[in-house]
Amino acid sequence: MDLYIITGDLKMALLPIQHQPTVDKIYKYYVDKNIEWRRPHLGSSLLGEDCQRKLFYSFRWCSSPNFIGRMQRLFATGKIEEERVINDLRNIGVCVYDRDPSSGKQLSGFDEDCPHHSGSVDGIAQGFEESKEWHILEVKSASNKYFNLIKKQGVLKIKPLYYAQVQDYMRWFKLTRTFFVVVNKDTDEIWSERIYYDKDFAENLATKAKRVIFSDAPLEKLGDSESSFVCKFCDYSDLCWHCGLALPSCRSCAFSTPEVDGTWTCGRREKRVISEFEQKAGCENHIFIPNLVPLEVVGSDPDAGTIEYEGGIVNGAGFIKSVDLEKEILKRKIE
Ligand code: SF4
Ligand code: SF4
Repeated sequence: MDLYIITGDLKMALLPIQHQPTVDKIYKYYVDKNIEWRRPHLGSSLLGEDCQRKLFYSFRWCSSPNFIGRMQRLFATGKIEEERVINDLRNIGVCVYDRDPSSGKQLSGFDEDCPHHSGSVDGIAQGFEESKEWHILEVKSASNKYFNLIKKQGVLKIKPLYYAQVQDYMRWFKLTRTFFVVVNKDTDEIWSERIYYDKDFAENLATKAKRVIFSDAPLEKLGDSESSFVCKFCDYSDLCWHCGLALPSCRSCAFSTPEVDGTWTCGRREKRVISEFEQKAGCENHIFIPNLVPLEVVGSDPDAGTIEYEGGIVNGAGFIKSVDLEKEILKRKIE
């Protein structure tokens, strides 16, 4: 569509309003920054998710989220809002720790008996008008619609993922209250809700985290079909309902194990700890966790490090490499 600028009865200029190369370049900048999506741990911000299979895929880095530049910029905006609210609170005399004073690092918590489950809080604060107690501080921004819903119905009902996230934090930091702040993206209105610790809820979350972390196969599906409401917009739909394969990395390899001390090991030859860097890179001996492959297993050779599937498809060194397996499966299905 073109835009005409009218001055009196003079039609002056023809300006394109659809193509915005400068804006596109800004978005591309965010994409090129290549924000790391592979979190080493299972984070609190995801744990309230109902589909445990989705959590398994995420913890195992099965596919990269499709974050376009605009979305990445939106995440950065959320961070700016968080800093602004912390400043607002400090300006009115609230004491906020958003970093560990001794190390300068973010304030992180984790499960002592399962360090793979961890997360970082926005802050810990004291001096609110409502209470003298120390609180977990959590800051979010929301569209006008969700802002008003949170005001009317509360965080638990409208944003259960946020509710679960702060329950995890309260358990780790042994605090019983959260000061949850939400900022309206349209009007800049601020709303706060104090959330109390729910011990049973938080302990159930910890149990759920362990189930996801120590499972050696994808957990049960939440939706009944690809068109189920929960699956329609899920990043893992192709893996769940079609022939999509996970990205090869140590996290999707049958030789890897998440250990109880928080490390990962490779058992390909002798057992050894693999660093986060190595996990991301994987190696040429990668073989998929069989339940990530949409074919029947017919055999395996632990010494050779291979798994054989129906149709004579063998995944492993010297046979079909993991990077080529999806292509091979699709090719055989077409034939
Ligand atoms: S597609 Fe559905 S069942 Fe599969 S991970 Fe996503 S939400 Fe869960
Ligand atoms: S065999 Fe390779 S890809 Fe698999 S866990 Fe070991 S190092 Fe990682």
